[in-house]
Amino acid sequence: MADREPLLDRFIRYARIDTQSSDTSTTYPSTEKQKDLLRVLVDDLKAAGLEDAAMDEWGYVTGTLPSNVPHRHPAYRNVPTVGLIAHVDTYFGVTGAHVQPQVHRPYDGRDIVLPGDPSQVIRVADEPELAACAGLTIITSDGTTLLGADDKAGVAVILEALWRLKEQPQRLHGTVRVGFTPDEEVGRGTEHFDVAAFAADVAYTIDGSGLGAIEAETFCADTAIVTVTGADVHPGYAKHKMVNAVRVLSALLQALPQHRTPETTEGREAFLHPYTMSGNTSQATCSLLVRAFSEEGLQELETLLRRTADFMEARYPGSRIAIDIKPSYRNMKYKLDEVPHVLEYADEAVRRAGLTPTHPPVRGGTDGSRLSFMGLPTPNIFNGSMNFHGVKEWVPLEWMDNSVDTVVHLLEIWVERSGSA
Ligand SMILES: [Zn+2]
Repeated sequence: MADREPLLDRFIRYARIDTQSSDTSTTYPSTEKQKDLLRVLVDDLKAAGLEDAAMDEWGYVTGTLPSNVPHRHPAYRNVPTVGLIAHVDTYFGVTGAHVQPQVHRPYDGRDIVLPGDPSQVIRVADEPELAACAGLTIITSDGTTLLGADDKAGVAVILEALWRLKEQPQRLHGTVRVGFTPDEEVGRGTEHFDVAAFAADVAYTIDGSGLGAIEAETFCADTAIVTVTGADVHPGYAKHKMVNAVRVLSALLQALPQHRTPETTEGREAFLHPYTMSGNTSQATCSLLVRAFSEEGLQELETLLRRTADFMEARYPGSRIAIDIKPSYRNMKYKLDEVPHVLEYADEAVRRAGLTPTHPPVRGGTDGSRLSFMGLPTPNIFNGSMNFHGVKEWVPLEWMDNSVDTVVHLLEIWVERSGSA
């Protein structure tokens, strides 16, 4: 078994660097401090043997691990280039300044009271997976910040996998391209990502929750903007004249099915989510997120929205309701189904790491869903951490190590399966 201390030290070193992104910034990256970690990663990639490691003008750090397969051997002629990607930024909604990682070793199996704010308790009753972790080494924040395991665990896992390959040269891998990206949390991680220059045939983000999870399904996402136009007149003399846009819009939202909301759905269930509105008597507008796992599912919700709008127009004579649909992203499954082996190899790698692969649907989008539609099939591999985006994040060192193991096996599988092609 590999020594896990270097992985622990590396993760803690990265976690201490503040890389919080900003959802209101218009610069790229959204916060300059993300480059504090990105610069460190250029040096760390070079130390791991990726001599061409560099940061580009946007902050993307890339590097190449040259293949170690005997190229002249006919069995290994066509080993594809595999990309490994992780994001350095942390969730914009919780502070990432002065992170004080806490190492619970060995974890005693009880509720974890976070020492910097004892009102923050990670409870076994709320976290079914935690109960099985007694005896492991668990890392948390001190309760006053997030930990940033999303996705510094993924960053540390990739670096550690590169070191294991360096130390075990008998393990064969093709050309590996590494990419560290900013601004995933604000949905802009791929905004300036140059897929052609990255030059990988497939890639994997190391950014998922849940031990053994391979994520290959995300939402299809649109935004619907509903605009109601009414007719304003003096309210004292409005009988049979006023058409109140605020009232019409409220009635429309009220008529949407209550069992298709974020608050009432899970798994692969779809929803309509009104998330912002404004207006007055003469005009009122509302933006809604439309989310489903298939194009048909999106269509169904959008048709329902239009029918409800038609009904309200008829019920409030004189009102007009316009609906504008803006596409956001699509389920990566549509692209990954064209290359099923990309997922099969990941499953096999998880099994070789001694785990059972699972395929939880992601109720959101990932950088991988955008990359897959940019021509680079990119499912997501677990990084070992749990409870993203809050001060109660936790990550067992052993699970991060399982992720390292999975990545190294995966690269070997790509060599094995590409033989004699
Ligand atoms: Zn993430």
